[in-house]
Formats: sequence, structure tokens, C-alpha cells
Amino acid sequence: MKIYRTSRISLGNLHSQKICVLGYGSQGRAQALNLKDSGCDVVVGLRPQSSSFKKAKKDKILARPIGDALQGATLICFLLPDEFQKEVYDRYVQPILNPGMTLMFAHGFNLTYQRIVPPSFSDVFLIAPKGPGPKLREAYLKGDALPSLMAIHQDFSGHTKKLALRYAKASGCGKRGVFQTTVREETISDLFGEQTVLCGGVVELMKMAFETLTESGVSPEAAYFECFHEVKLIVDLLHERGISGMAKAISHTAHYGGMTRGPRLVPFETKKVFKKILKEIKSGSFAKEWILENQKGLKKYKRLTQQNMDHSVEKTGQKIRRLIGY
Ligand code: NAD
Ligand code: MG
Repeated sequence: MKIYRTSRISLGNLHSQKICVLGYGSQGRAQALNLKDSGCDVVVGLRPQSSSFKKAKKDKILARPIGDALQGATLICFLLPDEFQKEVYDRYVQPILNPGMTLMFAHGFNLTYQRIVPPSFSDVFLIAPKGPGPKLREAYLKGDALPSLMAIHQDFSGHTKKLALRYAKASGCGKRGVFQTTVREETISDLFGEQTVLCGGVVELMKMAFETLTESGVSPEAAYFECFHEVKLIVDLLHERGISGMAKAISHTAHYGGMTRGPRLVPFETKKVFKKILKEIKSGSFAKEWILENQKGLKKYKRLTQQNMDHSVEKTGQKIRRLIGY
């Protein structure tokens, strides 16, 4: 993978771009503010009734209804939820696209599954910060950055990579390295990671472990500390020091117990499930399912969300986090 560092890159023509950031949520707010603080000309585009107008006003950043915000824009950043990007593209962006305009994405869902197919005369790049928006803003304010992935999807002008790197630097995604990938690779790996490990696997493991302990008569408080609270502490060690570094910081008993019991929980056969999930992502069947779920009014999404909210670990967690001052 090619890695770029932006310390010696000037912001150059990024300063002459009129940047329209669509959305003012997790990434939209962080990137719009970072770009503004880097001296860029930024306007945020929002739905007329959006509650984000208040947030933007408080942050002293210019925000307009999407149609107005797009007037004269040369760089359009899609920082809206993935499931609404096509709607906004079709209605507002596609009709005004001209050669010389650049489209920016922070995740490749809509490009990979061809929900958005920009005309060949558009430059299109992706900068995906490897972390949530508030962390991106926090890092920028400390003079730091988050690492990021970059992909050049279309390069009509021949200058897209230069602009993407400038964008990475100005938005707080440059200093720690910009790793070049493709839009498809970013999309597939991002979806796979969140489904199998980050948001899928970890949560199910924690819930089932908590259930097992409490059903055996262990108090919910003790079960919560062991199966939920401490996850962060171990993950921080893994994040900073890797598996071997983490192992050095835990007891020999924990290390031995983990190495011998872990594979029983995640046996080799589980790889078949990983492969199946990856296949669903690659073939576009997960994307289709998610789009359909949105069109059907998110019934399953809401039911599963409620199920998690009702889980006993949530009630215990709320109580303990309050008690220990989180
Ligand atoms: P978000 O849900 O936080 O953004 C919501 C914003 O979009 C709000 O300002 C809201 O008013 C606006 N919005 C919602 N629905 C809209 C609609 N129908 N029309 C117009 N505006 C609408 O989104 P996010 O999590 O910041 O994600 C933005 C993009 O960044 C996505 O492509 C996502 O995959 C990507 N990304 C997110 C993260 C993250 O940490 N959240 C990390 C990397 C990449
Ligand atoms: Mg994602």
C-alpha cells in the first residue's frame, strides 16, 4: 500500500475551492470545522428543517439549505448518512454538475454499489478517516490527525490526487499517513470490519458472556465489569501494543486462559461464516438488503435496536456507569 505524508504538502489550490460540505453530523461537523480552521472557504448544506442548523450557528460556520449551499461549489463533500446520499445526489447535485467540479466521499458505499455514478468529466476522490468525527476534530485541535484511507475514483483533470492529499491535510486526515487504496477495497473492508468484529462480533460476544454469567447466579455488576467494562482496557492495549504487547500487560493466568479458550469460542469453522459475510458484501447482496430495509421503513432495524436496548446488560451498564461517574 502506498502511504503519503502531508507535512510538506501545501494546501495550494484547495484555498481557491468553494467547498460545500453536505451534512453536519459526525464527520460533517468535524471536517467542515477543520477545513474552515485550515483557511478553506466552506459552506455546509442542510435540509431546510434540519436540527443541525442550530449546531452550525453555535459553531459559527456558514450553513444554508442544500440547494443554496451548492451554488458555485467546486468541491462537494458527501458527509451525509450513506443511505441518503443517492437521494441528495439525484435531486440536487447531479443536475448542477459541471466539468471542473470534484466530488468527495468518506466511505465508498454509494460508488461501489453504483448507486451514484458521477459523469466521466467529474473528479471523484475518497478520504476515509479511520475514526469517528468527534475524534477527528479533537485530534485536529491538538495539532494532530487521524490516519486515513485515500482512493481516487475518477481523475478527469489529472490533478485529483493532489487535491485529495490537500483535502486530507486540511481536514485533519494527513499527518498520521494517508494510505492509498481503491474505493471498492475501502468499501468492502469497512463493511466487513464493522459487521464481523467491531459492531457485530464484539457486541454479541459481550452480550452472551454477560448472559452466561448472570444466568449462573453471578451478580450483574460483577458480570458487567468482567464482560463489558474491561473490554476497553484490553482493546486500548491491543490498539497501542498489539497482541504480544497486550499479553505482557496481563497476568500469565489470563494469557494462558485466553489462548486456550479463545479458539474454542471462535473455532476454525467460524471462518466459513466470515467468508459467507464477505461474499454477501462483495456480491452487493448486503447493500441491497440494507437499501430495501430503508425503503420498507426500517422495521427490522428498529426491532433489533429495541432488542439491544432491552438487554439486561444495558440496564446494568446504565446503573454502573452512573455510579462510577462515566
Ligand atoms: P451522520 O449520521 O452523523 O450525519 C448526519 C448528517 O446528515 C446530519 O447533519 C443530518 O442532518 C444530515 N442528514 C441526515 N439525513 C439526511 C437527508 N435525508 N438529507 C440530507 N441530509 C441529511 O453521518 P456520519 O456518520 O458522519 O457519516 C457521513 C459519511 O461519513 C458516511 O459516508 C459514513 O460512512 C462516513 N464515515 C463515517 C464515520 C463515522 O465515524 N461516523 C467514519 C468514517 C466514514
Ligand atoms: Mg462504515
